[in-house]
Amino acid sequence: MPKKLAAGNWKMNGLAAELSEIDALTAAHPDPSCDILICPPATLLSRMADRTGGTAIKLGGQDCHEAASGAHTGDVSAPMLADAGASHVILGHSERRADHGETDGLVSAKAGAAAAAGLVPVICVGETLEEREAGETLAIVGRQLRGSVPGALSTLVIAYEPVWAIGTGKVPSIEEIGEVHGFIRAELRGMGAAFDPGATPILYGGSVKPGNAAEIFAVADVDGALVGGASLKASDFSGIIASLEAA
Ligand code: PEP
Repeated sequence: MPKKLAAGNWKMNGLAAELSEIDALTAAHPDPSCDILICPPATLLSRMADRTGGTAIKLGGQDCHEAASGAHTGDVSAPMLADAGASHVILGHSERRADHGETDGLVSAKAGAAAAAGLVPVICVGETLEEREAGETLAIVGRQLRGSVPGALSTLVIAYEPVWAIGTGKVPSIEEIGEVHGFIRAELRGMGAAFDPGATPILYGGSVKPGNAAEIFAVADVDGALVGGASLKASDFSGIIASLEAA
């Protein structure tokens, strides 16, 4: 069984004042029965690491470059994230794919770089509304998985995030979530890769809130959530964590 994971993606949100949210989160979950991951902006990573040392809270980046170092102004490498205190890195988020033209091949290269730096890649896949309405969801998710996940990885996390559900308040039906998560598990098993497909957490992401988390976590092959907006406040994220612990 995969270890359950509640992951928060702060996106481009958070100044020094928001570090108090991490203090509240660590205080609320001294001994959680699931993994808890916060991915703050890179500017807060090392300051957050100073506060989460010795606690159960893990930290991650939101992206990394595919090279370890070099002339890439404005980019952050996987070894830099690890050096700042990260254990994970989100890769291929739909906002990166849309805003920065990231392809499956680039996401795969970044995943390899992350693993080489000792980070666990959290690889995001998901269909647009047009693709869902055209009945292409499984084809798109399958293509993204095959293109974005290097078979040489020994450890990874998959996040299924329908693009149309991110930040919109819209959530797929329980049946739709179950169908895609079951499909992802089967695809992982079919890859014949270095990682253990049965132990790979598959997170759902897209408008997860304290009020809908329990029913989502009850779905087969949903091993946790990648949460945007509701991860910014410890009080909201704690409710989601509590639902995951109870699932
Ligand atoms: C996300 O950005 O990964 C996400 C799921 O956002 P939200 O929870 O705000 O929909």
